[in-house]
Amino acid sequence: MEKAASPYRVHIETFGCQMNQYDTELVRSLLKAEGFTLTEDRERADVILMNTCAIREHAHHKVYGRLADLKAIKRQRNLVVGVLGCMAQNLKTDLVEAESIVDVLAGPDSYRRLPGLIAQAIESQEQGSAQKGIAVDLSEYETYDDIMPERAEGVNAWIAVMRGCDNFCTFCVVPYTRGRERSRDPHGIIREAEHLASRGYKQVTLLGQNVNSYRFEAREGEQLLERYSAKTSQLRTRLGHGEGVRLGGPGAGGWKGGGTWDFARLITAVADLPGIERVRFTSPHPKDFPPALLDAVAGHPNICKHIHLPLQAGNDRILRLMSRTYGHEDYLALVEDIRRRRSDIALTTDIICGFCTETEEEFLDTYRVMEEVGFHSAFIFKYSERKHTIAARKYPDDVPERVKSERVTRLVDLQKSISRRKNEELLGQTVAVLVEGDAKKSSAQWMGRTDGNITVVWEKNGSGIRPGDCILITITRVSATTLFG
Ligand code: SAM
Ligand code: SF4
Repeated sequence: MEKAASPYRVHIETFGCQMNQYDTELVRSLLKAEGFTLTEDRERADVILMNTCAIREHAHHKVYGRLADLKAIKRQRNLVVGVLGCMAQNLKTDLVEAESIVDVLAGPDSYRRLPGLIAQAIESQEQGSAQKGIAVDLSEYETYDDIMPERAEGVNAWIAVMRGCDNFCTFCVVPYTRGRERSRDPHGIIREAEHLASRGYKQVTLLGQNVNSYRFEAREGEQLLERYSAKTSQLRTRLGHGEGVRLGGPGAGGWKGGGTWDFARLITAVADLPGIERVRFTSPHPKDFPPALLDAVAGHPNICKHIHLPLQAGNDRILRLMSRTYGHEDYLALVEDIRRRRSDIALTTDIICGFCTETEEEFLDTYRVMEEVGFHSAFIFKYSERKHTIAARKYPDDVPERVKSERVTRLVDLQKSISRRKNEELLGQTVAVLVEGDAKKSSAQWMGRTDGNITVVWEKNGSGIRPGDCILITITRVSATTLFG
């Protein structure tokens, strides 16, 4: 139950990935339940929280820049400043000591303590002291399963299905900032997705740092399984699928049977819910793609035909140094396996340039794998050494900045030409587009996305279209990033 509104207004700024956006929605819900008022107006806020990212140094710089702005405001009036999320977890007390304006620090597993810490900081500020509130313990169990996030309006809603990561890729800070991998109870996830469908969200994106390693041993829940078994078979009959859609999990017998839930089974269950038209997921690891998951993506009409498949590097020595657990041939075999099932599944990726000791020849291996796969798009990063990681402790960050930047530029140029070519293949075709809202550049145009997650822009022309509609658009022009119709 929500408490009476507090006179204290809280403004939250979010940096970084979709998981952070989701966590901000959780925090909004926790604060609202304790009676705080949320505001978009930072000028009038009594409390400003920054939900931060630690994945690259650039993310840290952005937060330090904002803290410098807030210092000036704090000189003029009472203001509680809080840093949440990965940077809080990673830098802990260093941050409070270095940035004296930070009053509250809460890591990703400590959000339940946030309302208390903020109340304490407000009280201490009103009494003229500057007591700091710090909560940075990592948990093996916290999944915020009982909290319904306070979501932003829109067509898409995020659902975190698991938290943390146990993979310890040597470059990555996530296992240190988000802790051990733990999966949520599927019942809670399905309830959340049902609630979203009833509120009119058309698309759900399942989130996790390593989303496809989702695994849950159901101890009870036969009732729910049976309830959905009935719904699923009705829906299958309506869609004319018969038994074509396979459910994952060892010895998968559909909804009945409880037992182990893996990601294939979970995503199929969410996609089967009435009202959910599209399901996406991010970020998966290439090591966790069993046939049942590939079958679900290829075969279920509501699971988007898009797989984000982070490659990181195309050279085997570098992949070993990164502890990615696959070689470039395993990766290419997976791509072939996906495309054999369905050639229209769009593939996108993440690449790191200039990882420790990467030579020009090794970089060219990445270039060649990118050419060979032909991704629809790619996020291409310069390696950024992170405190606490295995790479920071064991390997020299010895590729000069200039060389890292130059490698990024070469891959960006390559990817642009591939993306344009891929988009050109869609010229003249009619594609299904989920309408999201006004285009970024003009409110006289609509913007939406294809199943493969490519942005489409078209003139409004007085048509009765609304966000959330799924419509057919014929593509008449393309750029490397956008389809026009
Ligand atoms: N779990 C996903 C996976 O296994 O690939 C990745 C999630 S990570 C939060 C998002 C991306 O950030 C990674 O795929 C990687 O390309 C990039 N990244 C992570 N650590 C980095 C670092 N230290 N320097 C540069 N890029 C990094
Ligand atoms: Fe980081 Fe992803 Fe590796 Fe986990 S699997 S350590 S989140 S890069």
